[in-house]
Amino acid sequence: MVTVGVLALQGGVREHLQLLESLGVDGIAVKTEQDLETISGLIIPGGESTTISKLLKEFNLNNAILNKISNGMPILGTCAGLILLSSKVDGDEGHFKVLDCSVIRNAYGAQLASGEALVSYENGDEEKAAFIRAPKISSIGDSRAIAWVGDEIVGIQKGNILAASFHPELTNSTTLHRKLIELIKAN
Ligand code: GLN
Repeated sequence: MVTVGVLALQGGVREHLQLLESLGVDGIAVKTEQDLETISGLIIPGGESTTISKLLKEFNLNNAILNKISNGMPILGTCAGLILLSSKVDGDEGHFKVLDCSVIRNAYGAQLASGEALVSYENGDEEKAAFIRAPKISSIGDSRAIAWVGDEIVGIQKGNILAASFHPELTNSTTLHRKLIELIKAN
């Protein structure tokens, strides 16, 4: 039984839950450590990364989430979620620091600042996705690129961790969610 949690402290939660439902898996909003015990994978949604970072501390969820990730629980971070997973943010230490990459917040100019763009995935699929004050992935360390807009890397993976600078849930782009579900089933 696959139950995917969506971290529900701030940001875009509902659309992720709807997308999960459309893929036939149970999605639950995660706000507490007890909620984390019921899930087999987690999505950290877009929103405002500084706010989510503060709330993670306030709700005492940092250690529990980190433990889950290091025990191999599959996780997908989108937009602010990518920022929270990254090891370096704007040249400083990141929040969870589990994804070996550097991001720069709000770094796109007019092209990808806010709007839809066609994302190409490693398997050749293409889907439209929404970019909203998206972070730019400036280096990927030992992570692997899995999604691009043109030459620009916009999605990466390292083992059980998937992350993207865009919002797949706003255009019903299902590739990353399906990949997360595959990782959960293989875990
Ligand atoms: N710019 C936001 C931040 O820095 C991220 C935007 C988003 O998640 N859509 O947190």
